[in-house]
Amino acid sequence: MKKILVTQSSMPSLDEYVEEIKDMWDTHWLTNMGPKHKKFQEELIQYLGVENIDLMTNGHMALELSLQALNLSGEVITTPFTFASTTHAIVRNGLDPVFCDIDPVTYTMDTTKLESLITDKTCAIMPVHVYGNVCNIEEIDRIAKKYGLKVIYDAAHTFGETYKGKGIGSYGDVSCFSFHATKVFNSIEGGAVCFGDDLKDFGLDLYRLKNFGIRGTEVVDAVGANAKMNEFCAAMGICNLRHVDEEIEKRRVVVERYRSHLEGVEGLQLNPIQKDVKPNYAYFPVVFDDKVFGATRNEVFEKLAEHGIGARKYFYPLTNSFECFHGKYDLDKTPVARHISNRVLTLPLYADLSLEDVNRICDIVLKCRG
Ligand SMILES: *Cc1c(COP(=O)(O)O)cnc(C)c1O
Repeated sequence: MKKILVTQSSMPSLDEYVEEIKDMWDTHWLTNMGPKHKKFQEELIQYLGVENIDLMTNGHMALELSLQALNLSGEVITTPFTFASTTHAIVRNGLDPVFCDIDPVTYTMDTTKLESLITDKTCAIMPVHVYGNVCNIEEIDRIAKKYGLKVIYDAAHTFGETYKGKGIGSYGDVSCFSFHATKVFNSIEGGAVCFGDDLKDFGLDLYRLKNFGIRGTEVVDAVGANAKMNEFCAAMGICNLRHVDEEIEKRRVVVERYRSHLEGVEGLQLNPIQKDVKPNYAYFPVVFDDKVFGATRNEVFEKLAEHGIGARKYFYPLTNSFECFHGKYDLDKTPVARHISNRVLTLPLYADLSLEDVNRICDIVLKCRG
């Protein structure tokens, strides 16, 4: 039986990668902001259409160090329908996450519920562009300005997207990307923080924080971490960036095929098509309304697994229900997130997934109706 995993990392040809790393055997410069780091950074600024970018060892450290560099204290409003990283970045900074419910269509922060969560302790909003669905940027911006709050977007799912013709990383005070192997675009492990020219000081702080807080050879004036991207990862990023548009186009074809089978099926909710967004086809989530569809999410998950197909319950469980928080958060405050989390399944999706495999996956899903 042929196994299909939920994703498969994009890679350049071996020759292309070898060509890119060859000169490292002359320079012996392997990490600490070398020539590959610099080149990758410059290319990303162009590709993403942002003013500034700083590379990190992964997307999580991009989020965590962004919060630290903003020097925040108090409460950060976020959503629980996300990867562990978003919430952990807040908590590991000694900040308190306050969970806002999500919109039932885009799965991003429900901005109609945002304002009522603001207190005199609120310092920032950390929304997530879930599955590549763009948040309600205008409303978040309006509310943040009204209350003087910082906005840090978790843009891990939105590499290469634009909103109203502008790079998605240019929105908010700060936007963070992940270049993890499982994402639309990867540098093996990697991440980046994007910010505007008005935040140059923040940029300097961030740069120091990713290198232990070292200011000069004899001055360490911040308690930093080590989050530097090494040269091999930067080289992988440089190579993958040459092909990312093709990869996104191939993903589009896969998504179209999924839609041709599943669109309009009673009891299935597919990802929305958003106005003003150039999408990246990062994920293919399906929400199963078992009463109408005739099978639960878990039944579909099991059936696919029996056929060697790895779908993912992404995002389940919600981050506010994690064991590490010991029941600290009232889950009744995010009922829509709970509803979606209990019913959603992301189906396999990657550039080289064959259309025959998509047909087979959809066949298995639809047969679950009995
Ligand atoms: C992948 C991901 C992250 C973390 O990125 P890493 O590069 O794996 O550290 C953060 N938030 C979301 C929503 C993600 O999907």
